[in-house]
Amino acid sequence: MIKKNDVVTMGFSLKNSAGEELDSADAKEPLNYLHGAKNIVPGLEEAIDGLAVGDKKDVTISPDKGYGEDDPGLRLKIPRSNFPPKADIKPEMQFASEMDGHKQIFTVISVEDDEINVDGNHPLAGQTLHFSIEILGVRDATEEELSHGHVHDGTHHH
Ligand code: ZN
Repeated sequence: MIKKNDVVTMGFSLKNSAGEELDSADAKEPLNYLHGAKNIVPGLEEAIDGLAVGDKKDVTISPDKGYGEDDPGLRLKIPRSNFPPKADIKPEMQFASEMDGHKQIFTVISVEDDEINVDGNHPLAGQTLHFSIEILGVRDATEEELSHGHVHDGTHHH
């Protein structure tokens, strides 16, 4: 039974409401995450709680338990002069900015002569998420993983 502080290995397919696949993972390149550490969207974590290895499940997640509602207030026009003069600003670049006391990630949408259009919404904000998941493995997290709040699976460390 999957519970807080387990390391979960899973395969999944994520589709939008139009049935287009947005992301996936399988047994060859599974997703490993630390359960209960907000590594994945809340609705998915809730759906996985209590599952066991071998379980398969289809889960539909509304935006409030996914990547949030789309917030038009996070689409901003920023004067070019707010960026470093020599910075080569291009669409799809991302940067972090302090906003209301937390770090907000913005993506550059388009660049005009003296204005940059940016969007702080997650690309999947406002979307209902359709996951098909399969639990491939569960193990206890190490002390180090618990202190970092994420899995050390050999592909990254920070
Ligand atoms: Zn780490």
